[in-house]
Amino acid sequence: MTLSVKSEDSGVNMQLLKDRILKDGQVIGTGVVKVDSFLNHQIDVALIWEIGREFARRFHGLPVNKILTIEASGIAVACATAMHMGNLPVVFAKKAAPSTMIDGYFAAECTSFTKRTVSTVTVSQKYLTEADNLLIIDDFLAHGEAALALANLAKQAGATVSGIGAVIEKAFQGGSDKLRQEGYRVESLAVITSIQDDHITFR
Ligand code: 5GP
Repeated sequence: MTLSVKSEDSGVNMQLLKDRILKDGQVIGTGVVKVDSFLNHQIDVALIWEIGREFARRFHGLPVNKILTIEASGIAVACATAMHMGNLPVVFAKKAAPSTMIDGYFAAECTSFTKRTVSTVTVSQKYLTEADNLLIIDDFLAHGEAALALANLAKQAGATVSGIGAVIEKAFQGGSDKLRQEGYRVESLAVITSIQDDHITFR
C-alpha cells in the first residue's frame, strides 16, 4: 500500500484507523468507544507505528524537542510519534504520585472521562523545563480535560506547547473546540462526529 503524504484529510493510512474502529470498536452508551483490541489494552504495534508516522507528518517543521503524554494509553502512540520525529524523549504524566518521586514535581487536577473521578496528574520537575517545546499526544480527545491538565503541567514548567494530537477525537464532546479556543493547534486522526444507535459517523 502507498502511504499518502498529500491527502488533506487524515491520509490514506488513517483510513486504516477508521476501518479498524468500525471493525473492532465497541460503542458503550452514547459517548464511549472501546478499542481495547488495538489501542487501549492489546496493542496493534503496526497500526500504532503508522499513527506515529501520521502525527510526525502533521506536526512536521515545528520546533518540538519532547513529547508529553499521560499514562497509560498515550504512551505507545507517543513513543511511535517520537521515533518518527527523530527519536525524541517521551515524558508521561503519572496519574498518582509514586513514592519514588522524591524530587519536586508539577501537579494538575484532571477529571477522568471514563472513570468520572478527579485525580492529580504529576510530572517530575526534572523532565519538564522552560527549555522544552512540547507536543502533547493522547489516545482519545473527549472533553479535553486530560490535554488541558498536560498543558497546565507544561505551563507550570514554563515550557511551550506547539501542538496537541489525538488518535481519536469525539468532536461532539467539545474538547477540541475548547483547546483551539485556548490557542492550541489540535490534530486528530479520526474524528467522530456522532454516535447513534451503535453507529459511528466520522467527519
Ligand atoms: P478528555 O480528558 O478529553 O475528556 O478524555 C480523554 C481521556 O479520557 C483519554 O486520556 C482517554 O484515556 C479517556 N477517554 C475519553 N473518551 C474515551 C473513549 O471513548 N474510550 C476510551 N477508551 N477512553 C476514552
